[in-house]
Amino acid sequence: MKVAQQHSTLARLVCSSCGNAFSIFEPQTFSSCCQQPLIAEYDLPRISPSVLQQRPSTMWRYAEMLPVLDPENIVSLGEGMTPVIYPKRLTEKFDLPFFHIKDESGNPTGSFKARGISAAVSKAKEFGFEGCIVPTAGNAGGALAAYCAAAGMKAVVVMPSHTPDVFKEECRLFGADLVLVDGLISDCARRVATLKQSLPFFDISTMKEPYRLEGKKTMGYEIAEQFNFDLPDVILYPTGGGTGLLGMWKAFDEMETMGWIGSKRPRMIAVQAANCQPIAERFAGNINSVKEYVGRASLAYGLAVPHPFAENMIMRVLHGSGGLPIAISDEAMIDAVKLIAREEGMLIAPEGAALWVALQQLIKEGLIRNDENILMLNTGSGYKYLQNL
Ligand SMILES: *Cc1c(COP(=O)(O)O)cnc(C)c1O
Repeated sequence: MKVAQQHSTLARLVCSSCGNAFSIFEPQTFSSCCQQPLIAEYDLPRISPSVLQQRPSTMWRYAEMLPVLDPENIVSLGEGMTPVIYPKRLTEKFDLPFFHIKDESGNPTGSFKARGISAAVSKAKEFGFEGCIVPTAGNAGGALAAYCAAAGMKAVVVMPSHTPDVFKEECRLFGADLVLVDGLISDCARRVATLKQSLPFFDISTMKEPYRLEGKKTMGYEIAEQFNFDLPDVILYPTGGGTGLLGMWKAFDEMETMGWIGSKRPRMIAVQAANCQPIAERFAGNINSVKEYVGRASLAYGLAVPHPFAENMIMRVLHGSGGLPIAISDEAMIDAVKLIAREEGMLIAPEGAALWVALQQLIKEGLIRNDENILMLNTGSGYKYLQNL
């Protein structure tokens, strides 16, 4: 099946700090001027959202606003257009009449990482790379391995050695080279930096290349479509490197420019693990930069990111949206995984379950009202975590 006929309107990459422009015609990492993430900008098309009705039911339905210049280079396994679920029993029991879960667990390889990796591997293919390399806490590695297999490319995945076997096995099954490192994802990132010197592969470290963000932003487009272009009041998102949070925010801005939505924005809640909460610590003013933060491992592997590279951008979204960060203990996450499984028949990832705990806490503190339009993003499947639940 052809995934998209429409052509990208990608125009330039800009430094997220000073706005300096960088070429879209060669591979880029982050900005050389400010050492900050590069952001893709488009000459956004004058189209109405009604064109979407005839589009494929994957994230590539937004092809004009995605960065792949030649549709032939798109590597797709059917990612995106995940359902928004109304969890009837939970909403009744907890008196949350307008509460929804966008369930990303049905994506290829069981997490929303598929979106970003589909975009980044497609760009790697477009640039003619032989392979890709990534440091990962777990889910990004499996996704990279799968999309590289589909692209006929090599994948090198660098993962903490304490990650459960299932995350390692899926990488091996998809034919990736797996490198295990004692430590957290930040230690894996250092290993990637060394390996890269002798390996001409596309490095897709979170926010250190511009295209995974573009894949993740499709969640924002889908949320708008699925909520009839009237965005929720509050969005809860489990924040590790922050790509999903930043991506949704970027999508909202692009849609406003195209006239698809107005200026109303959800309050963005960045949920972190108590064991690894650099953004919460910086927001509270306890540290000036996440680089000072020392994190510990969490069962929510996707949240064990002590030094998110895009920290400044994450802070801007939290402040700009009137949102905030909040940290949740591993024990509370496990209880919430079990509660949602029993009440709703959904086996969600601990990262997603953390949002439920955060919601209860913020309602108790009066920071969210239960009659607001609330959306939580379950970013992954709980099945890969069974060994540790
Ligand atoms: C990676 C991951 C996250 C965090 O995503 P970021 O884009 O790094 O903030 C959350 N949940 C799951 C299941 C993940 O795999």
